[in-house]
Amino acid sequence: MHILVINAGSSSLKYQFFNMDNHEVLAKGICERIGFGGHMRHQVAGKVAYEADIELPDHSVAVENVLKQLTDSSYGVISDMGMVDAVGHRVLHGGAKFSGSMVINDDVIAAIEECIPLGPLHNPANLMGIRACQQVMPNVPQVAVFDTAFHQSMPEQSYMYAIPYEYYEQYGIRKYGFHGTSHRYVSARCAEMFGKPAEELKIITCHLGNGSSVAAVKNGKCYDTSMGLTPLDGLVMGTRSGSIDPAVVGVISERTGKSASEVVDILNKKSGLLAISGISGDYRDVSAADEAGDHRAHIAREMLFQSIKRTIGGYAAEMGGVDALVFTAGIGENNDYLRQRVADGLEFMGIAVDPAKNAGRGEDRDISAEGARVRTFVISTDEELMIAMDTEELTK
Ligand code: AMP
Repeated sequence: MHILVINAGSSSLKYQFFNMDNHEVLAKGICERIGFGGHMRHQVAGKVAYEADIELPDHSVAVENVLKQLTDSSYGVISDMGMVDAVGHRVLHGGAKFSGSMVINDDVIAAIEECIPLGPLHNPANLMGIRACQQVMPNVPQVAVFDTAFHQSMPEQSYMYAIPYEYYEQYGIRKYGFHGTSHRYVSARCAEMFGKPAEELKIITCHLGNGSSVAAVKNGKCYDTSMGLTPLDGLVMGTRSGSIDPAVVGVISERTGKSASEVVDILNKKSGLLAISGISGDYRDVSAADEAGDHRAHIAREMLFQSIKRTIGGYAAEMGGVDALVFTAGIGENNDYLRQRVADGLEFMGIAVDPAKNAGRGEDRDISAEGARVRTFVISTDEELMIAMDTEELTK
């Protein structure tokens, strides 16, 4: 079975094309500047990439070009587009409507539309990708995989905000959580590496990238997670503040004359590591500056480490213990210093990493110190593969 995985943004469309017999990525690429000119990059394993400025007036033309490249005599991997068996779409917000992936039909599209107020930037773009594929490949089944779905198992005490109840009832104001596909993938992989069914484990998964979140996964289900109604909540991130006193929004608004939505935009795009360091929102840049002696870069990193620790401690308490801790995504997979610093001081709860195992690179591995009560893992996340697997499962 061949599956195309699509992640559509407002002016971009990323894709990966899988052979599900061996989970191999046959080709991947990105269409950018859709509606503003157009640029495409298409990469086939072991070949020179195709890259060109091409007219991409809308997402449908982008999808047509993806199929053209997949079937091209030089850059292609299949002989005709009939070999695309199904399409899996990443969709940001499924609200409280979806606790799992769905084969797309008119009702699913209507429900994704209803979630637009919760994901105003992403859901319309995701829908553009879905409609473009329906137009270009009307007979190919399509599946929506939601970033929020895995977190739908949270109990009320985890997802409610202690604010007037009518805001929850009328507007759906509650915690939804994000990166669900990643937390689901790495927690399942962790159980496999642990050698026990997920149903018997308490796992804390730390997805640490440009956007970062932690999830408490109890008996295979999400029990709590650090992002909220939107991805702004929780950990200190590249350019997001993470959790702060909500009154800060009102105070900044009063002092600067900016509207609440302008302040929230600052909290999303001009805060986090970028704001504290004054240098960059990229963890590598901040680390380099910290190591060179920059004080603000140092505080930025310390704030990040502390926010991760605080969340791990909180989730272990909520679940009544923890069996495994997982680090994943750009920072979690690649930075041994961060992993060591997060683990330092958590010996009291059974977490300890082995410096030599922690310093290793590459494959998924157990980095726990000998005798540590909690096992710590580094696992590469693969959201696209998870989307492809769900798509296969629902359409085969
Ligand atoms: P992601 O959003 O998962 O792509 O992760 C992006 C973040 O990972 C950025 O803050 C990068 O600085 C960080 N990152 C990527 N590679 C490395 C690396 N080798 N060491 C440290 N941080 C890294």
